[in-house]
Amino acid sequence: MTGIRSAGQMERFRELLLAERREAEERLLSQSEGITAVREARSDGSVDDEHDPDGPTMSQEWSQRTAVLHDVEHELADIDRALARIDAGTYGICERCGQKISVGRLEARPTATLCIDCARLVR
Ligand SMILES: [Zn+2]
Repeated sequence: MTGIRSAGQMERFRELLLAERREAEERLLSQSEGITAVREARSDGSVDDEHDPDGPTMSQEWSQRTAVLHDVEHELADIDRALARIDAGTYGICERCGQKISVGRLEARPTATLCIDCARLVR
């Protein structure tokens, strides 16, 4: 078994998660700015929504951006849960079977809550 054993490993994963969090927050910010820009373009009085040929394109861009935003918010919630597990000392333990999740799997997916075997079963 190659589960997490040392506090040093925990700290390494905390750093990894914090780095992912910063990166996700930046994406969240740039998406929010994009949405504000689309919203402003839409509320521009000079654009007639009913007859504007760009209207549907604008809506598409809107829904695409809000979908991405939703994904990033999900990701942030996952990262926060993983950080909370580090604080609680339960990080790296499978939520389903209680076995240690391999370090290799956590390195590939630091927010993983299931060991590779359980992840296969759930899917
Ligand atoms: Zn498991």
